[in-house]
Amino acid sequence: MKKTVFSLETGRDLLKKVPEGVASGTFITAFRFDLDLDGGSTDGIAVITEEGVFTFEGGLPVLSVMYGDCSELEFHQLIGACEMCAETENGPVVICRGTCSVKDVMAKNVRRITRFLHTGNYSSDEELDLYRVCPKCRKRLRPGMTVCVDCADRKSLYGRVLKMALPYKKYLITSIFLFFASFAVNLAGPYVNRLLVDGYIDSEKAKAAVAAGQSGSVFRGFILTIALMAILQILTYFITALRNLAVMGAGWRLIIDLRRLVFGKIEKMSVRTLSRRTSGALMRSVTWDTSMVERFITNDLPNVIQQSFLFVAVTVILVLKDPILALLVLAPVPVLLLFSGKISPYFRRMYGRQWEAGSRTGSVLHDIFSGIRVVKAYRTEKREEDRFDSAASEERDISVRNETVFNVIDPIFTFIVNIGSVLLLYYMGRQIMNGRMSLGEAAMFTSYASLIYGPISWLAQMPRMLTRTVTSLVKIFDIVDEREDVQDSADACDVDIRGNIEFDNVSFAYEDGGDVLKGISFSVKPGEMIGIVGRSGAGKSTLINLLMRLYDPDGGAIRVDGVDLRDVSQHSLRSQMGVVLQETHLFSGTVYENIAYASPGCTRDAVVTAAKAAGAHDFIVRLPDGYETVIGENGHTLSGGERQRVAIARALLHDPKILILDEATSSLDTKTEHGVQETLSELIADRTTIAIAHRLSTLRNASRLVVLDKGRLAEIGTHDELMKKGGIYYGLVMAQRQMSRIKK
Ligand code: ADP
Repeated sequence: MKKTVFSLETGRDLLKKVPEGVASGTFITAFRFDLDLDGGSTDGIAVITEEGVFTFEGGLPVLSVMYGDCSELEFHQLIGACEMCAETENGPVVICRGTCSVKDVMAKNVRRITRFLHTGNYSSDEELDLYRVCPKCRKRLRPGMTVCVDCADRKSLYGRVLKMALPYKKYLITSIFLFFASFAVNLAGPYVNRLLVDGYIDSEKAKAAVAAGQSGSVFRGFILTIALMAILQILTYFITALRNLAVMGAGWRLIIDLRRLVFGKIEKMSVRTLSRRTSGALMRSVTWDTSMVERFITNDLPNVIQQSFLFVAVTVILVLKDPILALLVLAPVPVLLLFSGKISPYFRRMYGRQWEAGSRTGSVLHDIFSGIRVVKAYRTEKREEDRFDSAASEERDISVRNETVFNVIDPIFTFIVNIGSVLLLYYMGRQIMNGRMSLGEAAMFTSYASLIYGPISWLAQMPRMLTRTVTSLVKIFDIVDEREDVQDSADACDVDIRGNIEFDNVSFAYEDGGDVLKGISFSVKPGEMIGIVGRSGAGKSTLINLLMRLYDPDGGAIRVDGVDLRDVSQHSLRSQMGVVLQETHLFSGTVYENIAYASPGCTRDAVVTAAKAAGAHDFIVRLPDGYETVIGENGHTLSGGERQRVAIARALLHDPKILILDEATSSLDTKTEHGVQETLSELIADRTTIAIAHRLSTLRNASRLVVLDKGRLAEIGTHDELMKKGGIYYGLVMAQRQMSRIKK
């Protein structure tokens, strides 16, 4: 099937292609779809107006659906395809279909229309984050990026880097000062050399003095000059060592600050934002990009200053001595600048690709390491090795290609620089032949010229260095500047939660799909235990994610004690909320630290009391070091039941006002589950609890049950009420009873 790339074309671009008068109502947007209703390939455009949706295939109108004729629009994910449907009086009508390449755009447009129908307002393409293209160059943005590496404002990037470098200015200024000191010492070298040769080695005066029997004083002078040379060498060594120390002093402080900055921001990102980026890319930004920026600030930036200073100083001397000669020496500079400017975009693309390849390798590694038990269990080491190999080889190939290109281009720079010296030789040769320049003058000009070629060659390397740095800077600031979509409102306050929760017409969709929750409304009284039930994929965990404010709802509101969650400070909310999940994450550290994780500063007694209440104390004291036993990464040394008890103890100690149990006991066997259930009842008492459980029998303590079905609230009531009703809940209970009978 023809693969179409739509993302470079926004809804507004497409609307320009729609003939006037073929769709009624004010145009909102349009999007492309690539499958016809029979599943064949097509070239379709769906136009969304304020009155309805109109589709065209090959420029001819196919379907028009007016909002007045349908109760709802829906997005359906099919296998390898997706569709937009309208619920009408005569049943569902498929409006358009597409392959996965249009899934995101189609799903977001369905949400845009639903929102328009409910509120009368619609979100713009930008708000929906629909076309991830650079507004300047219209190229597709790299995955997870909000800034285009090619169009990023370099001046402001460097400005920000300079600001970052400010706290380390004393180190950087010291290193620049020491550079000039070593430069001065180096300049003195040839002078002492000349003293040695002219005064002692090739000196008539010295020879005469030796012949007159004063060899002692000549020898002393000779030794002193040699000693002076040695002192200069030692001085150079000390200055260089001091300079390296100054650079290091700035370097390690800066890199820690940079890593703190990036990591701190990543921690603040919402789950939705994080899921757009890969772990490899995030890790690369924290490690590689920060070290590139550190290198730039501590090494390249002082070098730019030093070399530019040298360049200007030697140019001034040359111009003063002989302007024509200065012109010849500097002749390659404009050519060099032009050439650099031309190849810079190419270098940017090259290093951008290298960056992506590196982050892919990181992601693959992370994926393999976190799933290492599955890899071992299924003996897929070879396959994973190949996967890693292929990612690493891709990175290697790109790096080799980049270095090859660089090494081909670099001699061109040298060649351009050398043209200047050829011109210089020609000019000086002519001047000497015409008797207008002495050999001594020629030697002096040659040494000046060699002084200026150093900075020129170094400056020629700048495009490559700057490109690498800019790529890393863009990545870092892209993270640092990321809009915080789940953030405290300006007047967010701390709330002393009593435990009243209200879901008011809540709708939500993940990035690339249709609504997962649709118009959910129910309220929970303080101290109530609510069980959330429904088939797998009904939206139970999503509901809880919204309550924990890992995401904000797209429509409606969730209120705690009458205050919208968006107006409660996240710190206040989370500090009064406790969670026990199906998969308990135990951090590397002692059992004690893991229980006290959410309650820093608690007393030892409190930890032990919580562990006892959670039924964990007995097994903990049997561990080799009791509460001080270090549990490995993910707490592998503990069994499922033990880990769950540690998690319950953690939640108990935290003493939350709202408790969330997401399949807290479903990974346990029935006997262990029974034990853990009893400790859970301790945890549930006197606090609002929202629990999801696959095994419905574990929700027998629930005050009420909320039944979700395909993202909608289907039923709500006590176990008895719902059983009497004979609806979805009844069906689920019956199916489970039958299953357990079969098992028995
Ligand atoms: P349940 O807990 O009832 O099994 P979930 O709330 O986990 O259901 O999921 C509801 C729907 O949302 C499912 O179709 C699932 O595929 C989808 N979903 C869940 N998490 C994500 C996510 N992070 N990104 C995209 N879709 C998701």
